[in-house]
Amino acid sequence: MRTRLSVCRRKARYPSREEALHAAATFRLPLHPYRCDRCGVFHLTSRTKGKFLPRVPIYP
Ligand SMILES: [Zn+2]
Repeated sequence: MRTRLSVCRRKARYPSREEALHAAATFRLPLHPYRCDRCGVFHLTSRTKGKFLPRVPIYP
């Protein structure tokens, strides 16, 4: 599922997964970083369907 451009443009952008996760932690919500196929950087989403593979290790 592609990220809609309208969604991409209003979302915060993070240059790395680590930064996205750090931001997610401040929201205290189960947000997941994903790489946007529109702009190539990370956004956060609360949706997991089709976007995020659960239980992927966060850090290498
Ligand atoms: Zn984007």
